[in-house]
Amino acid sequence: MESYKFQLVAIVSLVLLLPNTEGWGKDGHAIICKIAQSRLSNNAADAVKQLLPDYAENDLSAVCSWADSVRFYLHWSGPLHFADSPDNLCNYDFDRDCKDQSGVKGRCVVGAISNYTDQLLTYNSKSKAKGEYNLTQSLLFLSHFMGDVHQPLHVGFTSDKGGNTIDVHWFRRKENLHHVWDVNIIETAEERYYNSNIDDFTAAIEKNITKGWADDVKGWETCDDNQTACPNVYATEGIKAACDSSYKGVTEDETLGDDYFESRLPLVQLRLAQGGVRLAATLNRIFG
Ligand SMILES: [Zn+2]
Repeated sequence: MESYKFQLVAIVSLVLLLPNTEGWGKDGHAIICKIAQSRLSNNAADAVKQLLPDYAENDLSAVCSWADSVRFYLHWSGPLHFADSPDNLCNYDFDRDCKDQSGVKGRCVVGAISNYTDQLLTYNSKSKAKGEYNLTQSLLFLSHFMGDVHQPLHVGFTSDKGGNTIDVHWFRRKENLHHVWDVNIIETAEERYYNSNIDDFTAAIEKNITKGWADDVKGWETCDDNQTACPNVYATEGIKAACDSSYKGVTEDETLGDDYFESRLPLVQLRLAQGGVRLAATLNRIFG
């Protein structure tokens, strides 16, 4: 009986812990990783194949949410999923905003992207540095955080924790604003327009990358000053999008329905596309 009770407590705690993870939900991350993997150079595709754990069967999207599943026991990784900034300023500043609750600088999603990029750059080096890191983990963290930084409310306001403390209704369901952006907009789009099929939704975004957004893609891929990764740019875009779209006009306990869904879906699709294109561009620069 005791052990049954213990098991029940363990299961309930797991259930409570797992769904409340921050970041695009499973589908959002998977879409970004699917888009990215299809755009890799031969060298980058080979390196990713080498680094992926066997159980992923060379499918990066299968492990794109790994970083969310480990954050409840790798506590140090929690602050690496976001970078909130002071309320209503609508800008992002690395020195001011990229730190954890104890004020340790660089411990935010932007610092994490730079850090795991640097680690992966040792993949082709013959120096001692190569053996210092678990590059499989570096790849999984980088792929996940590149997604997170493109979710506008991962660069949201500090006091509401990126919309986590703003209660709303998504149609009839009680949610918080952060979760609406992680999961609900994507899920509703898949249900309404794509027969709940993630591959069809991904294909529609990929089609836009080659058609509607074709002229912008080079700009998305490029980093200034020959940098390998440029997450500060993505965070700056993120907080602007959060102000102009995610938070805009939303009040506590409001019901968000068709108007909100239809007017915000294009931004969600754009951020998923940019996340995928930029993850691929970064991996291509890293692995040559
Ligand atoms: Zn995350």
